[in-house]
Amino acid sequence: MNFFTVFSFNCFHSFHSFHLFQLLVSTIDFRYITDVITPEEAISMLKNAQEGKEERIEHLLVKGYPSYTTQVGWMGYSDATIQELCKKYLDLGFTAFKIKVGRDVNSDMKRCMLVRKEIGYENTLMIDANQIWDVNEAIEWVKKLSEYKPLFIEEPTSPDDVLGHATIAKALRPLGIGVATGEMCCNRVLFKQFLQAGGMQYCQIDSARIGGVNEILSVYLMAKKFNVPVIPHAGGVGLCEMVQHLQMWEYTSLSKSMKMIEFVDQQHDQFVYPTIVLNAKYQAPVEPGYSTELKAEAIENYEYPNGKEWQKMFQEGIFEEIKY
Ligand SMILES: [Mg+2]
Repeated sequence: MNFFTVFSFNCFHSFHSFHLFQLLVSTIDFRYITDVITPEEAISMLKNAQEGKEERIEHLLVKGYPSYTTQVGWMGYSDATIQELCKKYLDLGFTAFKIKVGRDVNSDMKRCMLVRKEIGYENTLMIDANQIWDVNEAIEWVKKLSEYKPLFIEEPTSPDDVLGHATIAKALRPLGIGVATGEMCCNRVLFKQFLQAGGMQYCQIDSARIGGVNEILSVYLMAKKFNVPVIPHAGGVGLCEMVQHLQMWEYTSLSKSMKMIEFVDQQHDQFVYPTIVLNAKYQAPVEPGYSTELKAEAIENYEYPNGKEWQKMFQEGIFEEIKY
């Protein structure tokens, strides 16, 4: 049984459900977060999410879970490449697109315009600055991009600056632009503060950055309490594989609403049970586990420092092998 199925299965059986909620909640460390959420509240939130659960599971199995692509607007792409990629991902069924910004404001305006021209205003555009600005600079810069109607600005400033994010969020709210962050947040306390301060309108958990599923569940519960949608970060090897389980659980068993999961179509071939995205929808995994198992040849080729590819790069002088 996989992660998603375990939690779903739990709740098919109402006789046991209270104890199963207790069991699930008992895996979460509530220390330092009871000012926001208590175990009792968590149990009642899970109980309240039972209604319609079987229908949601059915919907998920049939329709899949929406994704967005980050592939159309990496820095350094030519206009022609951006146009080509927008067309490609539109054809693949994507309706939400994220591009990188922050190097040059005029170039960002041009790139946003280009993407909007291709995807139209009926689709969703998001922008990601990867922590490049100071707070006031972020506000001024994003204001200049506001005419392209991004849903959110991701990581506008230092990922640790809770109050800075809140200041940016407050300034951008009248423009209808939210602040998204979380991919660099490694614990529940930081998430708690972002949520309390209004510093994140979109919560971007990273399944590998936070210390395990238990801690991630606490963030999901707090985000639900603050009514902040979780749109997980998945732009990295294996992240799509892991985060799909969490997000599908969140939909079926906690928030009852679907959001989006980031999707990058790279390196899935290295996994035994790769993510499957069809028509821009993640297909619910049916295999056991958390989908993190790498193929034997992936380890053989890429394990540091003995993998074949590393050894080749050491021999070619691309990297120096460090002997411990
Ligand atoms: Mg990012």
